[in-house]
Amino acid sequence: MVNVGVKAQCRVCGLLAPADEFRLHYKFKQAVCARCYSGRTEQEKQKEELKKKKEEIARPPGWDEVDEYLTKTSQQRREEQQMQFSKIPGTDQVKCLCFHCKYSFKYDALRKLPVNCPYCNTEVPRLRDFNSL
Ligand SMILES: [Zn+2]
Ligand SMILES: [Zn+2]
Repeated sequence: MVNVGVKAQCRVCGLLAPADEFRLHYKFKQAVCARCYSGRTEQEKQKEELKKKKEEIARPPGWDEVDEYLTKTSQQRREEQQMQFSKIPGTDQVKCLCFHCKYSFKYDALRKLPVNCPYCNTEVPRLRDFNSL
């Protein structure tokens, strides 16, 4: 007999739930609360673990604010140090000025050549907005 309105503690999640909601669960091999019976407790646990895992991937061990600061500044520097493209007037050709060695060379924007600066071998980034030059 189950008394209506009586609360019992679920042994799976440890929470109090109405005793008449308890049902025998095949996996736990005992009566569990409605939440556990419907699998919600397990789903939430899995979600938590997934979230934890994601955080671990995003922030490798030893990560701190100094690392974050350094990553930001090096990214900024990378943005500043870029090849400068300029269209050669009257032609379809592009001139590229290497930020690294200041060597300027003709750049084929259609074939994306050369891939690297002919002088210092610094990679030439892809020219995305060729038409806006
Ligand atoms: Zn439960
Ligand atoms: Zn160069």
